[in-house]
Amino acid sequence: MKENFLGVDVSSYSYDELVRNLSNDIKTNQQSFIVAINPEKILKAQEDPNLMNLLNEATYQIPDGVGAVLASRLKGGKIKERVTGIDMFLALCEQAEIEGNSIFLYGAKPGVADMASENLVKRFPSLKISGVLDGYEKDQDRIVRTINEAKPDILFVALGSPAQEYWIVENMKNLDVNVFQGVGGSFDVISGRVKRAPKLFRKLGLEWFYRLIREPWRIKRQMKLPLFLLKVLRK
Ligand code: UDP
Repeated sequence: MKENFLGVDVSSYSYDELVRNLSNDIKTNQQSFIVAINPEKILKAQEDPNLMNLLNEATYQIPDGVGAVLASRLKGGKIKERVTGIDMFLALCEQAEIEGNSIFLYGAKPGVADMASENLVKRFPSLKISGVLDGYEKDQDRIVRTINEAKPDILFVALGSPAQEYWIVENMKNLDVNVFQGVGGSFDVISGRVKRAPKLFRKLGLEWFYRLIREPWRIKRQMKLPLFLLKVLRK
């Protein structure tokens, strides 16, 4: 259930299929790692073999952003809709609440993960949040110890990309956790510090446009999309 664009794997599973697989990974005590893929990361990986390996090492590469969906369409593939990092995160929280699994939030500025955690509990009242830790703690041993003592089933890491992915791969073996997801700026959004695009924009596939208006510097990142599609077509 994977497609490959310019050397980078992208999963064609839906949210439901992913949630089912991941809850099974928890039941059978396996470790899995979710990474969000977008054209910017795929293009960066063209020049950085370490990043390419890192992305392909993940268990599930979710098609975050419209880039992978369009590329799949161009190549007659099966990826029909985006699976965004933040919606995957929320889908995992929903499932964790149902199954009684616990989560841990690691990353973002001091106080943000706490606020995100409060908002998650408002949304999923029985969700078990076993701990939070900000992303500016430097003592790696302390980070690993804190997470292991909390014993979460799922760890969300919000250190920005690709730092969070490198951190996950480096620390997975020392952590007694089943599911790892790199979630970028999601804690900032869930805490209410940063606003997501209104539903209508998201439905129309125009979240990028909304973000562009609010954060014009993103133009540099967004110009990567047409470049990526051209490269995929040429291949
Ligand atoms: N961050 C962090 N520790 C660091 C650097 C960044 O916890 O040393 C956090 C930052 O506060 C923010 C997130 O990482 O919450 C990065 O968000 P961004 O939207 O930049 O993610 P990306 O677009 O890279 O996925």
